[in-house]
Amino acid sequence: MTAENGGRAERARDGEADARRRTIAANLEAVRERAAAACEKAGRPPSDVTIIAVTKTYPASDVRILADLGLREVGENRDQEAAGKAAELGDLPLTWHFVGQLQTNKARSVARYADVVHSVDRARLVGALGARVRAEGRGLTCLVQVNLDAGSQAGVIGPRGGADPRDALGVADLIAAEEGLELGGVMAVAPREGDPGAAFARLGAVAAGIRDRYPRAKVISAGMSGDMETAIEHGATHLRVGTALLGDRGPNVG
Ligand SMILES: *Cc1c(COP(=O)(O)O)cnc(C)c1O
Repeated sequence: MTAENGGRAERARDGEADARRRTIAANLEAVRERAAAACEKAGRPPSDVTIIAVTKTYPASDVRILADLGLREVGENRDQEAAGKAAELGDLPLTWHFVGQLQTNKARSVARYADVVHSVDRARLVGALGARVRAEGRGLTCLVQVNLDAGSQAGVIGPRGGADPRDALGVADLIAAEEGLELGGVMAVAPREGDPGAAFARLGAVAAGIRDRYPRAKVISAGMSGDMETAIEHGATHLRVGTALLGDRGPNVG
């Protein structure tokens, strides 16, 4: 390659990186505005709500841009992808949220890099995470994932995971009792069908029951790109936003 060609390729790459940065900056601004407007409508201060950027399927370079724009909370839903990005971005002051369904045999890996696991929904997972973070000498905040999908039967874990609302306090008790784990609160995904408001209201009631016993467990992780306003209306403290920040992931991807 000639020096001239190399220079041209480099300028083209810089141009693309600049364009990506401008896109993400505009998206972040729009998401912050949506959250602020919803907070105002709900009579809540905007500082009540934390935006977690769900960066699954997007490259570490996008996480770097988000960090540069002041976002510190990053969410991933697959262990392998999350572990790779966390390692690559170890120089950044990021908080890593694991938001996807978690198999018990992945607890060891997740315990190495995650700061918060949103998807804790069963006793075996609590025990596995506790054992692994103690072995790593780390701490870990855990949220009880609540299944809000009325369509899935009690006792049967739905396609998106989560404890039955009636079992959520029991899972919270286990987390609170597990050395190395900190009970942070609750998390849920709105059902695919039906009114997200009714589902988030139910989550709010479960969260209140847990807070009665554990006053510091204040996190309500609810609301994604399509339903963040509704989630804020019902008390969400943490939004998990992917598409609205980074773009459409296309079909069949998480
Ligand atoms: C992908 C994902 C999100 C983000 O969803 P968007 O609709 O892209 O904002 C939030 N929570 C979980 C658990 C996810 O897997």
